[in-house]
Amino acid sequence: MKSEINGNKKSLFDYARHILRQHDGKLTSQLKRISGGFGLGQVPNSLKPDATTNMTCGFCSTGCTLTIHMKDNQAINITPATTGHVNLGMACPKGWESLEPLKAKDRATTPYRRNSSGKLVPTSWDSALTRFCKEIKTVQEKYGEDSVAFISTGQMVTEEMALLGSLAKFGMGIKHGDGNTRQCMATAAVAYKQAFGFDAPPFTYQDFEESDVLVFVGANPCIAHPIMWERVERNKNNPDIICIDPRKTETAMCSTDHFAINPKSDLPFFYCLANLIVEKGYIQRELLDKHTTGYDDFAEFIKKFTPESVQETSGIAAERMHQLAELIGSGKKVSFWWTMGVNQHHEGTRVAQAIINIALMTGNIGKPGTGANSITGQCNAMGSRLNSNTTSLIGGHDFTNADHRKKIAKILDIDVQCIPDKNSLAYDQIVEKISQGKIKALWVIATNGVHSWINKNDFKKTLKNLDFLVVQDMYYTTETAQVADMVLPAAGWGEKDGTVINSERRIGVLKKVSQAPGDALSDFSIFKLIAEYWGCADMFKRWDTPESAFEILKECSKGQPCDITGIKDYQFIDKNEGVQWPLPAGTELEDHQRRLFTDWKFYHKDGKAKFLFDEPREPAERPTEDYPIILLTGRGTSAQFHTQTRTSKSAILRKMYPQDIYVEINTSDAERMNVTGNEWIHVESRRGKLKARACITYHVQEGQIFIPMHYSDVNKLTYPEFDKYSRQPSFKYCAVKMRKLHSHE
Ligand code: SF4
Repeated sequence: MKSEINGNKKSLFDYARHILRQHDGKLTSQLKRISGGFGLGQVPNSLKPDATTNMTCGFCSTGCTLTIHMKDNQAINITPATTGHVNLGMACPKGWESLEPLKAKDRATTPYRRNSSGKLVPTSWDSALTRFCKEIKTVQEKYGEDSVAFISTGQMVTEEMALLGSLAKFGMGIKHGDGNTRQCMATAAVAYKQAFGFDAPPFTYQDFEESDVLVFVGANPCIAHPIMWERVERNKNNPDIICIDPRKTETAMCSTDHFAINPKSDLPFFYCLANLIVEKGYIQRELLDKHTTGYDDFAEFIKKFTPESVQETSGIAAERMHQLAELIGSGKKVSFWWTMGVNQHHEGTRVAQAIINIALMTGNIGKPGTGANSITGQCNAMGSRLNSNTTSLIGGHDFTNADHRKKIAKILDIDVQCIPDKNSLAYDQIVEKISQGKIKALWVIATNGVHSWINKNDFKKTLKNLDFLVVQDMYYTTETAQVADMVLPAAGWGEKDGTVINSERRIGVLKKVSQAPGDALSDFSIFKLIAEYWGCADMFKRWDTPESAFEILKECSKGQPCDITGIKDYQFIDKNEGVQWPLPAGTELEDHQRRLFTDWKFYHKDGKAKFLFDEPREPAERPTEDYPIILLTGRGTSAQFHTQTRTSKSAILRKMYPQDIYVEINTSDAERMNVTGNEWIHVESRRGKLKARACITYHVQEGQIFIPMHYSDVNKLTYPEFDKYSRQPSFKYCAVKMRKLHSHE
C-alpha cells in the first residue's frame, strides 16, 4: 500500500521501524500496520528504570532544571534540581506540576478526522497521513505555491522546529510559515537584529544578582518569571529596583520605586529619560564614538522630549524624571529588563531600542550586572528565533542572502533552489491572506490561535475560508483543534528528546521520561513520517534522530554569532547542566555565566551598534466617549501559562487561580458604576463583548482595566494593531466600555 504513496515500500517500512525504535519506543497495532507488521517489541528507555535524571522545564523561558524521579521506566515525580546555573533548587508551581498535563484525559491518543456530520472521529495514522498529503497537494495544485502556510510554536524542541521548517519549506514547497513566537518575541528579535546586527540577548542570569540598579519595563517577573525574581532577591548590593508599568503589579509592589506611566507612552518617556541623561553628562562618549553609529543624530532628536513636554503624555511628573535619570546615570551596574509590555506594542521595536540606546549611552553593556535584556516567554522561543526556518533561515541566517542559502543548502545536501529567497509572510499577513481566500490550507503545530490570536472572533471566522485545517497537538480539545479538519496526536514535554534555549541563550536538554499515550508520536517522528508520505524523505536522511538533527544545527551555526560547534553532544550539555551560546569549536567552557559584548564588538559589518529611533505615534484605537476605558492584558498568576491547554490539567494549579474570568477595576470606577467585588460586569469593545467578575483594586489606574490573557474571551475585545517592524500584535491596549450586569442577563 505504501508503495503507491511514495514508490518505495522498503524505505517506508524500514523507516517506520526505525523511528519507532529510536524515538517512540512503542508499537501499537496502528503503528504496527504503518511499519508493515514487523514484530517490534517495547523498546526500553535508555535511562535506568529507577533513578533520577535532570532536564529543562517545558513551560517558560527561564529554563529551570528539574529533577525527574523515575520508577519502572516512568517519571513519577519532580523536584527542582539543586545544582545547575538557573534555578538553584527552586521551581514555580508550573514546574512542580509538569507531569500532570501528560496524564490528562483529553490527550489526543490517535489521529482524528472530521466526518460528514462535523464530528472529530478517530482514524489511523496511515489514513491521516495519506489524506494530509493529498489535501495539501490538491490545494497547491489548485491555488498555487503561496496557498499553504504553517503556524508553529515556541514549545517544541529546537530539532523539531528545524525539521518542520525544513520539511515544509524545502521538502513540501510551503512558502509561508510563522510561529506563535510572533506574539511574544518578534519585537525583541527585530530590535536586537537592527541595533546589534544579530538577534542576541546579551545577558546571563547572574546579572540579576550583580546589578546595583535594575529597571523592569512592562515586565512582571514576580509572577511571570518567578525564578528570575528569586535571583533578584539574591542580589547582595541592596539594589534600587525600578518598575515602569501602568499597573501596580506584584513586581511594582516589590520594587523600590514604581513609575506608573500611561499605557503606550513608553517612547516619549524613554526619549525624555535619554535626553536628561545627556543633559546631566552621564554619557560614555569614548565608547559611543568607537563602538556605535547614530548617537549624535539621536542626541539631537531627543532634545525636544523635555520632562515638561512629556509629563502629560506619560503621567510622570518632571521631577520624577530627573530622579530616574540621575539614578540610572550615576548607577555603576545598571540592567534593563523588558517583556511583553514592550514587545506587544504598536511601536514596540522602537521602545525596545529606546531602552537599548540608554544602555549603550551609559556604558551598561557587556559588564556584570548590566545589559538591555529582553526576557523571553516560551521555553524555546529562542530556539524558534534561531532555527525554526520561519523568520530566519536555520542558524540565524537570512533567506534573502544568497551566500546564506548556499551555505545551508550545502550542509543539508539539498538543491539551493529549494530554499526560498524571500521571507515568509508574518502571522498577521497569513491571517489576512486566509481572509482574502489566497491561503487555503493551514497546518497548526502546538499552538492555539483561536484563543491567543488578537481579535479572535475575526480569526475564528477567517479560518472558515480554509479548505483544509490540520492541528498537531497533545490535546484534541484545544479551541483550534475543535475547528480543525484533522488532528494529529503529538507527544509532549517529557515524552521525547531534544534541546531548548532559554532567555539567557542557555541550551538545555529534554529527555523522554514518560511514554506518550496511545498512538501519539513525537513531533519529530510525525515530521519524518510526513516526509515519507509526501515523497521527500530522501532530503531528510541525515535527520535520523533529534541528536543527529542537533549535529546538523551545529554545522549550520558555524561562523554565526550563535556558533555552537564546540558543544560535543547532548551528554556534554547534560554534564554541564546547560550551555549558553556561543561556544565555537576549540573553545573551552570555562564560565557558566557568560554575557555578550564584553569587548563592545557588535555583529554589524562595521562591528558597531546602531542608535535607532522614530517619532512616537499614538495607538490606532484611543478611548472615546463611547468606549472610554483602556483595556490592558497580561499574565494572571504563576500557576497559569498562556492558553492554559496544559496548566488547566493540574488540580493543584487550578486551585491557585480564579476559575471565572475576572477584570481588575480601579476603586473609583467601581464606585461610579456601583459595582462591588466579585459582581459580574459586562465589558465590550467594538469587536466583541464578555462577562467577567469585578476585582476592585488600586492596582489599575482610573479609566483602565486589566484582564488576564489566559481567559479565552479576552481576545474577543483586543484591537488588531501591529508593530510595523516586527509585525507583533499590540495585545495590551484597546478601548472598551463597561457596565454592571443586570440580574436577568
Ligand atoms: Fe518552569 Fe518557568 Fe516555572 Fe522555572 S519558572 S519552573 S522554567 S515554568
